Amino acid sequence: MRLILLGPPGAGKGTQAQHLVTTYKIVQLSTGDMLRAAVKAGTPVGLKAKDIMARGDLVPDEVVVAIVADRISEPDAANGFILDGFPRTVPQAGALEKMLVDKGLGLDAVIELKVDEKALLDRVEKRVREMTARGESLRADDNAAALKTRLDAYRSQTAPLAAYYEGKGKLRTIDGMAPIADVSKAIDAVLKAAAGESRSTPTAVR
Ligand code: ADP
Repeated sequence: MRLILLGPPGAGKGTQAQHLVTTYKIVQLSTGDMLRAAVKAGTPVGLKAKDIMARGDLVPDEVVVAIVADRISEPDAANGFILDGFPRTVPQAGALEKMLVDKGLGLDAVIELKVDEKALLDRVEKRVREMTARGESLRADDNAAALKTRLDAYRSQTAPLAAYYEGKGKLRTIDGMAPIADVSKAIDAVLKAAAGESRSTPTAVR
């Protein structure tokens, strides 16, 4: 199973990805996590990404595309994966498509978590409080100014992906304002339907 989770910061992509990892035994590939690890390790990619990420802007497409191309070729991704935070721009989506076609692979679904924008700031603030309570170090971009930039980037660069995948018949939109368990159930239902569709139309363009 190969999926994309689409949604603004605070939509619950990470939370739902964890559910999918356990349920479907596939790996979660979060470009945000990969980039934060690169920043922490001080690799050349990390050095390039550090300030951009702290501001809340997007890291250049070629940087993330290279990371994802390497990552999906790892053995643990052979069983399937959830892309969380990638693609984030239309050129990234084009690059992903090319990577998958080269490997003879398709996407099962693109799941968009729809959330009320007013709730996002509250959710991110809640995450900050919880992380602080657990004694975890905060993300450099979990502050009001960077969050505004992240939301602007989402609106202008990432939101157009919904139409892109709608046009390919892959988009499934789910209400991300529902309780966590209900969102998980809705995702399961969507995936079940997608699996049924691919079985009944084996020659469908993927
Ligand atoms: P969010 O909570 O905003 O969804 P992520 O953890 O997915 O956060 O990403 C954090 C930051 O990492 C982004 O604001 C951006 O700077 C960078 N980043 C992650 N994925 C991508 C991507 N696909 N393209 C460009 N930049 C990315």
